[in-house]
Order: sequence, then structure tokens, then C-alpha cells
Amino acid sequence: MKIVKVEPIQCDAFWGSYTFAKIETDSGLVGYGECTDWRMPRAVAAGICDLTTLINGQDPMRIDSLLTDMARLSETAPGGVIQRSISGIESALLDIKGKALGVPVYELLGGKVRDRVRVYWSHCGTYRAEYPSAFDTNPIRSYSDIEDLGKEVVARGYTALKTNLVIPGDPASVYSPSDGIVSASIIDKAVNLIGAFKEGAGQDFDVALDINFHYNTESAIRIARALEQFDMLWLEVDSFEPEVIREIKDSTTLAICSAESVTTYREYRRFLDLRAMDVAMIDLCWAGVSQGMRIAHQAASQEIPVAPHNLWSHLATFQAAHFCAALNNVQIMETDVDAAPWRDELVTELPEIVDGDLIVPDRPGWGTNLCENAIKQYPWTGAIPAEISSES
Ligand SMILES: [Mg+2]
Repeated sequence: MKIVKVEPIQCDAFWGSYTFAKIETDSGLVGYGECTDWRMPRAVAAGICDLTTLINGQDPMRIDSLLTDMARLSETAPGGVIQRSISGIESALLDIKGKALGVPVYELLGGKVRDRVRVYWSHCGTYRAEYPSAFDTNPIRSYSDIEDLGKEVVARGYTALKTNLVIPGDPASVYSPSDGIVSASIIDKAVNLIGAFKEGAGQDFDVALDINFHYNTESAIRIARALEQFDMLWLEVDSFEPEVIREIKDSTTLAICSAESVTTYREYRRFLDLRAMDVAMIDLCWAGVSQGMRIAHQAASQEIPVAPHNLWSHLATFQAAHFCAALNNVQIMETDVDAAPWRDELVTELPEIVDGDLIVPDRPGWGTNLCENAIKQYPWTGAIPAEISSES
């Protein structure tokens, strides 16, 4: 079997573009992989095009060999955007190999250790605050509306949620200071937010807060300490410096989750060696399955659970499902419930979520295919809409 064509496919995601790699073979088998990045979609697609000459004509079953070739081609600029492009190609190759052998991808990763994966409702309230016109949902004008959202999450069967620093109002906003400094007033709002979600969903309900890269170390520590009054799933903080994450972890009783943006095992190892975080977040669209498995296996050897980062289309959810299926040390997996209204149309099979758990699919390959005709109905215009953010 030989690869005859490699191409990126993009589709409107309302906050930017979903990005996929498609690989065709001379046998007629086609593989799809998702490598969405919400800020640099053109760069990821261009990376797939740049790797095409290396991949065309090759045997798609020799995945590790092709990964080595792609890593060597990009050795002067590893990680970052090009790792997303490599990841998309790798996922399309895994899809082809699974289909060729008639097995689900998890069989290529060591076999299934679980039938279900617990998932959490991510960006809960975040998108409704940032893009109110995109959803036919109630506006978030007060903390009472946050309570109602917490009730909705429970009613829809989820057992955990993650939010960002949503500030109710008209319009609502998501706080993101340009200077990384948090004020006492914003800390109060973070406490009110988590308190309202707990009030609505229940005091035992797992709630996580993601403050991303938005705060300096001292501010992140102040937020963490203020939230210690709650029994939280985790506080999520990002930095490319493992010592920063370790300092935050050491300063608080909250569990700290981090490192979704670290996309190579070589870089990630610095975080694990330092035991910088309690939960290791891995994005399969950004790091790729091979790098992700290496990271997860080292994390397992250090008794650290992993949690896939996954806010993309359903294909990425399938990719993360197979990754989780083959690992013991998975705490929980991310999924977005509020998404582009056309997201369900883009794939042939939808993820099956029952009582807050994603059922691991057993079909060959990833277990779903892209509907290219549907994708053509939602072309990405090249626009990345502005989020509603606040510095007040
Ligand atoms: Mg995050």
C-alpha cells in the first residue's frame, strides 16, 4: 500500500477553523486525523502541505518510520505549530492502519484497558459568555444564571465541569488581564463563580477552573488559595516553565493540572521529572498520539494521572477516546458541549456519551469518518472572531 495524496481540510468552527489531515492510498483506504489549533489554523494546514513531499509514495503502515522522518525534517523548529501538522498526519496514518487491519486504533496502542472514559463539560459558561450570538441559550447575566447552568450540566448527565473566569453581566465576559495581575475584586469574582456552580450542581460535584496562561505566578497562587475553600477537581494553570507550575502546586492544597501546550515528550519530561503537576494534560491534536503515549507512560511510572485536552471536533474526541482506552492512568477527559451547531454533521458516527462517560468505540480505525460533503457546506472564511473579554 502506498500513500498517493495528503491534504489539509478545514471547516468553520465559529471560533476559527477545525483542521484535519486527509491521506489517500492506492488501495482506496482513506485516513483522517484532526489537528485543530484555534489560533494558527493556516499555519497548521501549511505544515501539512510542507510535509506532503516526504509522505507521498510511502507505506502508510510504517508510522514510526514516517514520524522519525517528519521529526528530522522539522528538527530545527520542533514542537509548536509543526508538531500539530505532524500530529494530524500521524492520526490519519493510524486511521488507515486500523482500517487496513480491521481493528480499532486502541489495538495499535497496546489494547483496551477500559470500555468507558469519564468526561467533563468544558468551557462551561465560557463560550456562552464569549460568543453569546452563537448559542440559543440563556444569557449569563448573574451568578443565579451560573447556578442554573450548574443544574443544566447535572440534568444532562455530566459528573464534572470546567470553566474559565466568567464574569456575569450584560454582556458577560471572560476575564483575561494583559498584565497577568489579579486584583482582590477579581479573586472575589472567581470565588463567586465556583460557589455558584457548586450551588447549582451540588457541593460534591467536580468543578475545575482553568486560568490558562493569564496570570503571573503570585497571582495564580492568590487565586488558588482563595479557592481552597472548595473541594475542586483541579485548578488549571499554564506555563512553559516547570518550576513555575511546581511552585504553584507547592503553595496550595488544590490539585494543579497543567501542560496542555507542551507538545513533545522531550519538553514534557522536564515537568514530569520535577513532579510539577498533579494531573498531566495532553492534547492529542497538538502533541500527537506517539508523543502523548510516551508522556502518559512516564506519568504512570510516577503515579501521575493524565487528562486529554479536547475542545475540538468529534474526530478529536474519538482520537482521545482510543488514547484513553489504552491507558490505565487516565483521570478524566475533556469535551465541549457548547459547540458549532453544525458539529454533528461533520462526521459519520457521533461520540456516545452515557451518564457522563464516553463509550469507547470498537469500530476499525478511529471509528468515525469525516463527511466531506457536509464540511463543504461550512467553509471557513478565514475569520477568527474576537472574544468578549474583560479587564475590569
Ligand atoms: Mg487548559
